[in-house]
Amino acid sequence: MKSIMTIPEKYRPIIDHEACIRCKKCIKACSYGALEFKDDKVKVGKGCVACVRCVFECPTDAIIVNELPKQFAPHAVFSPEIRRSLISQANSGGVLLSSCGANAEYMDIFNDILLDAAQVTNPSIDPLREPVETKTYLGRRPGKVVVDENGKIDLDASETPIVIMDMPIMIGHISLGSISYNAQAALFRAATQLNILAGTGEGGLHNDFYPMAKNLCAEVASGRFGVTSHYLKEVSCVDIKIGQGAKPGHGGHLPGEKVQKLISETRMIPLGTDALSPYPHHDIYSIEDLQQLISVLKESTEYKVPVGVKIAAVHNVGAIASGIVRAGADFLTIDGLRGGTGSAPRVIRDHAGMPIEIAVSAVDQRLEQEGLRDKVTLCASGSIRTAADMIKCIALGADVVGVCTSAMIAMGCTVCQQCHRGACSWGIATQKPELTSRLDIDIATQRIVNMFHAWNEELKEILGAMGIDSVESLVGNRDRLRYIGPNPRIAEILDVKHSGEGWG
Ligand code: SF4
Ligand code: SF4
Repeated sequence: MKSIMTIPEKYRPIIDHEACIRCKKCIKACSYGALEFKDDKVKVGKGCVACVRCVFECPTDAIIVNELPKQFAPHAVFSPEIRRSLISQANSGGVLLSSCGANAEYMDIFNDILLDAAQVTNPSIDPLREPVETKTYLGRRPGKVVVDENGKIDLDASETPIVIMDMPIMIGHISLGSISYNAQAALFRAATQLNILAGTGEGGLHNDFYPMAKNLCAEVASGRFGVTSHYLKEVSCVDIKIGQGAKPGHGGHLPGEKVQKLISETRMIPLGTDALSPYPHHDIYSIEDLQQLISVLKESTEYKVPVGVKIAAVHNVGAIASGIVRAGADFLTIDGLRGGTGSAPRVIRDHAGMPIEIAVSAVDQRLEQEGLRDKVTLCASGSIRTAADMIKCIALGADVVGVCTSAMIAMGCTVCQQCHRGACSWGIATQKPELTSRLDIDIATQRIVNMFHAWNEELKEILGAMGIDSVESLVGNRDRLRYIGPNPRIAEILDVKHSGEGWG
């Protein structure tokens, strides 16, 4: 037996040679080298990842990408996926890497939850005729409300800094380096146009993006790359990243080949060196240590911006969340296990953590029981795919949802899960100039704006149908949810009644 075994291909492009006009656009489009031109024909080789860029480029619809039949004998326990992984490890001896969200068939609890609607005794609201408020406030709740002579709440006079967004959505932290300049520019521009927030991700902020800083949330991760006092003072809020749902307990790794001039300048590290963020913050081993960092960041931003903490959803998430609020965080982000990432060991991505539905409800309940819930803005992220997921997540306890992968899909990402290879054919998760130029910033921005605008309209529709005139009134309103899934114990933990159970 050879020391390296071939792993059976999963996908294969099929060319209709009658329809093909031999323009070679598909060959240029394929950044994984799966197509070549030989003997006056497009020939299919190995390595197709089903990014389907070729399908979109073909002017004559002459190409499709097929999933191949499983090339293994049937077996109920050792699935083709497991056998593929084992062969790959036996070949390389290395940790299997992947990206862009857990791929295991976990329970999708959002799909097991139904929303309520109003009728007769609690009439619905028509959002086309009556106002339905989706404005959202991010920051520590003020201890007192100051009302001016016109009866309006004076936000400037409140004790704590607050960010006002037009919808309860924050584009999550995706760093420059994990994605291209054009992709990050589109995310930031979209956030500015929508008046929401976008996370900078780890690694600082490129000079070109400072004019959009009022719609940005700076991430302070364990590597502290690119973090300067100027940067922190320019943005709207600062987020200490302790953990990430896609890889709880893990740090960050940007391979040296991705650290090109743009990234090296922004992160303030030498060209071509690996950017490794430690697994823990080496100055944080207790809630008291975290409290110190929160204080330092508030001090260095002159108490003008909210300072938050992001943690991964793991088994002790409620207790940790409670400690973080007591430590003075103005907002708290819980990131669930199905969340996306640019690169993660597959074993962590697919097997560690907790679904966001359970985590957000557990944290909301715990903070409520301890009298802390009103002090903090609770953000939830980790596979919020649609407006329906967003609405259910808010009813489970979130004030704001963080969204990454859906925003990338709006830009063109086809979720092929190859981000870690740095050869994204859509010009998103790559630093290769010939690929990054494929992403048109204006078009990508408009597509993200369109998608989130549509989500907000759907949010208004649902709120109206529920007879609720403000998204704030939906936060933690679990009585407007019902569970229809197979495991009633999950409903108990979520504090959601089963379908068929009435009010009260
Ligand atoms: S893009 Fe379509 S028409 Fe052009 S060479 Fe490829 S298969 Fe043929
Ligand atoms: S960003 Fe690119 S490489 Fe990553 S999943 Fe999307 S299409 Fe694939």
